[in-house]
Amino acid sequence: MRRFDGKILLLGGTTESYILAEQLARASVNIITSLAGRTQNPRLPAGQLRIGGFGGIEGLTEYLRQEDIKLIIDATHPFARQITAHAIAAADKTGIPFLRLERPLWQRQADDNWIEVATPEAAALAIPEDARVFLAIGRQHLAAFSHRHDAGFIARMIEQPETAPPFRTLRIILGKPEYAEDEVRFFLKNRIDCLVCRNSGGKASYGKIIAARQLALPVIMINRRLPANAATATGTEEVMHYIYNYINQKKIN
Ligand code: NAP
Repeated sequence: MRRFDGKILLLGGTTESYILAEQLARASVNIITSLAGRTQNPRLPAGQLRIGGFGGIEGLTEYLRQEDIKLIIDATHPFARQITAHAIAAADKTGIPFLRLERPLWQRQADDNWIEVATPEAAALAIPEDARVFLAIGRQHLAAFSHRHDAGFIARMIEQPETAPPFRTLRIILGKPEYAEDEVRFFLKNRIDCLVCRNSGGKASYGKIIAARQLALPVIMINRRLPANAATATGTEEVMHYIYNYINQKKIN
């Protein structure tokens, strides 16, 4: 790869963004990872790091100009839709090239029992009566389920939510996604009979989908809309390829 002194902004908060930062820093590319600052002890990537919101589209546009960013890579979580929309708008305003890493969606297999919905609110309505539900969703969406007083909920998250969600029956378990065999054990131990999750794609949290398939449990799958009008890559290798091409074609000093 030719020498490149311009700065790349990497919107992060995912395993993929961590991997990209490591690879780019190793290739001596000037990379700034941006994290929202939601987790207390994030895994710190190589290269520069900034933490906290930009202040909407205006704030991000200003930041891009001030830092003289040459390229934006959006490797945020598939359901972090706001920052992606802001980054696409700011890229449009500034003319800075933008690439979204968009993990391919999980595909329903023949023996899957999925009920596909568009929002957490629709997922709450689709839960069978009196079910024992494993909620594998972001903590900011918990409240959408709190009116289902008939159901029992278990949610797993990395950190305890700052404010207690307004549930009568919610158990929060601190932890991360596991391999399928551990998820099967977890489902059986907690007598789970329904899974609610988002179609995040990727391998890291697919164990629960396999476990639900093996136990023939219904999965209420919240779908995602892919961002319109944005260049996308499906994995870190594709992103690296795009960046190499960009650097090799551009004469930036
Ligand atoms: P979001 O709804 O798309 O973003 C909300 C606001 O948070 C944005 O408008 C922006 O604030 C700020 N923000 C988000 N990501 C940022 C980043 N990488 N750098 C700087 N500011 C950022 O995002 P979210 O769903 O709350 O997720 C927040 C972060 O957690 C994301 O970076 C994502 O990759 C990570 N994450 C999310 C999930 C999830 O389930 N959603 C799961 C794992 C990791 P301003 O408008 O002030 O710029």
